Amino acid sequence: MSILKWIRQIIGDDDSSSTETEHDSLQTQEIFHKWIIINEGGFQIVSEDEVEIKKYWNDIEDVELRADHVILKVKGHPDINIPNTYFEWYNFIQQVPPGFQSFDYQGVQDIMAQLTPCFVCGLISVNHTRCFNCGFDSWEPMNYNLPPREEYYREAQLHYFEPFEGEPLNLSNAAKSGFKTDPKWTCLVSPEDFGN
Ligand SMILES: [Zn+2]
Repeated sequence: MSILKWIRQIIGDDDSSSTETEHDSLQTQEIFHKWIIINEGGFQIVSEDEVEIKKYWNDIEDVELRADHVILKVKGHPDINIPNTYFEWYNFIQQVPPGFQSFDYQGVQDIMAQLTPCFVCGLISVNHTRCFNCGFDSWEPMNYNLPPREEYYREAQLHYFEPFEGEPLNLSNAAKSGFKTDPKWTCLVSPEDFGN
């Protein structure tokens, strides 16, 4: 599944006034309401159907890093607050060019080092109990509404890896979006599960 289609799906789910989706028991979280497109010399903030912010690094006077958001100081404009619930945030903080006086470049390394493996997508992308790549929450032993652990992760993987519109199946946990691969990850689904 491509990143953008995955996000669109999550955002699409969020249009509903109800959280009772067919995947409700999987703790799918509609966390990515917007995403960051990083490009040559700058970035864009995109919501479902429009580019909301487009900036070049030359426009940015300074950048401040917090544990879950960054604050961009823009010449002659209000600050821009970018929370980690914007998809690609963890990639974005690693792409901030050198030379911003207030930016804590070592703090980026600390934030990345605190992430833990996701048993769904196989990246090192979980902050506390939530994956900031695939959007799934970790299975919780004390949450009796959830299926058993392996069943939970298998169901989540079936959802996450389901190809869209004729795209090839790709059961890979290759590093992406700034997140590293978890070499110990176990894929619980097979091509047969997708009719291949
Ligand atoms: Zn994940």
